[in-house]
Amino acid sequence: MQRVRYAFLFTSGDPSPLRMDNWYMAEEKLPTRAEDFSEWYNQLVLRAQLADYAPVRGCMVVRPYGWALWENIQQGLDRRFKATGHQNVAFPLLIPRSFIDKEKHHVEGFSPELAVVTIGGGEELAEPLVIRPTSETIIGHMWSKWIQSYRDLPVLMNQWNSVVRWELRTKLFLRTLEFYWQEGHTAHATQQEAMDETRQMLDVYTDFAVNDAAIPVIPGRKSDAEKFAGADITYSIEAMMGDGKALQSGTSHYLGQNFAQAFEVRYLDQGGQLQHCWTTSWGLSTRVIGAVIMVHGDDQGLVLPPKLAPYQAVIVPIFKTDEEKASVLSAAKQLKIELAKAEIRVTLDEREGQSPGWKFNDWEMRGVPVRVELGPKDVAKQAAVLARRDRPGKEGKISAPLADLPSTIQRLLGEIHQSMHDKALAFRKSNTHDTKDYEELKKAVETGFAFAFWCGNADCEAKIKDETRATMRCIPLEQPGGTGKCVYCGQSAGERAIFGRAY
Ligand SMILES: [Zn+2]
Repeated sequence: MQRVRYAFLFTSGDPSPLRMDNWYMAEEKLPTRAEDFSEWYNQLVLRAQLADYAPVRGCMVVRPYGWALWENIQQGLDRRFKATGHQNVAFPLLIPRSFIDKEKHHVEGFSPELAVVTIGGGEELAEPLVIRPTSETIIGHMWSKWIQSYRDLPVLMNQWNSVVRWELRTKLFLRTLEFYWQEGHTAHATQQEAMDETRQMLDVYTDFAVNDAAIPVIPGRKSDAEKFAGADITYSIEAMMGDGKALQSGTSHYLGQNFAQAFEVRYLDQGGQLQHCWTTSWGLSTRVIGAVIMVHGDDQGLVLPPKLAPYQAVIVPIFKTDEEKASVLSAAKQLKIELAKAEIRVTLDEREGQSPGWKFNDWEMRGVPVRVELGPKDVAKQAAVLARRDRPGKEGKISAPLADLPSTIQRLLGEIHQSMHDKALAFRKSNTHDTKDYEELKKAVETGFAFAFWCGNADCEAKIKDETRATMRCIPLEQPGGTGKCVYCGQSAGERAIFGRAY
């Protein structure tokens, strides 16, 4: 097999793309996940051409393959947002600095991460502007103008944009200074409606994670220490990565009347009384791409869930002579048309000068769910060989008649989705331990999650974090019931929480 050499950045912690001595050449094999999970991730993101480091420290460039993945994520979510009555909007990037100061917890939480613009058009600005870290404040300001009466409610909005939170320790998709996301914002006449909305959007994220990303997630409530700056309650979905660590993959916040009071978002109720609105916000970001990589990826590269994969199938033609080339390529082109008609996202790899084996490896690296191998013998038989990305080797290969390929691949994509989800769920279950005491918790968080009673006291949570580096991920909505003793202090506790080390 032809060997190929990749040049890429050595990226442990502090990549500095402008220093050429960080470049080195490597053979095509990735480090295995067992050897170095972090380096496996860094190299995979670069080699699969999902993203790259930008010249400004902390920033990332999302490449076409990565953006196509994000577009499929966007479509899956946007469809769900619209089905639940939300409309898309666009608010500006720049927010007056004074807006951030209006909500006490919000300013405390976000001040250290703000990027502030003080000069515009060569002139010092009368009031500094911040680049949005999130948009609650400017949206609250506009709502105070737009919302007058109970007839104006509810307001259900979402925007797709990027935000900036100053961050120097770059990890592509997981931790960058600027990241892409959606932020949903809603205003309601009653507390109950706002609570229902918060939970509904958590359900939407859960549904997306399970049914589109094949990622089993734990929906739950955050502790006070971990909640959003300015929220009364934050819910999140938490997923376990392939190294046993947690990744928060989407959050939904019940904001009470905090922002409505700070920005005077009020309405006249049916009795003619002036009331403050109840608001929510919810977001899911390009971090979820990190989750897709780390939940499903293997030592050969990406394994993409079929619903999100930019290409669901790749046709690799195999031939030696010019005569074979003509007949194989003609059959391959026809097949591509048939698969596209069946709404399968398909590509035909016609690259010259690369062997089929090289192409197999390349598409494995890029995680395409189904590979279609088409050679002269297959064409003669009017058949093709299908190889599943999630099951490497002979086990994942079947031969099928060309005429049946659209339906066979559709069925395979469904099976692959289910099998990827089930595998990830089995992995999470086998690495989640019900822990009775602190010693057990310490051991559990070395490799996965601890599911333990917690008294609700922030001191216990802080001490666990200091001593084990594990944070309280969430208090799962689904509780086994009963009461027990807090895993740290031994006081009685009514709920169990998930503890784990996190990205
Ligand atoms: Zn306790």
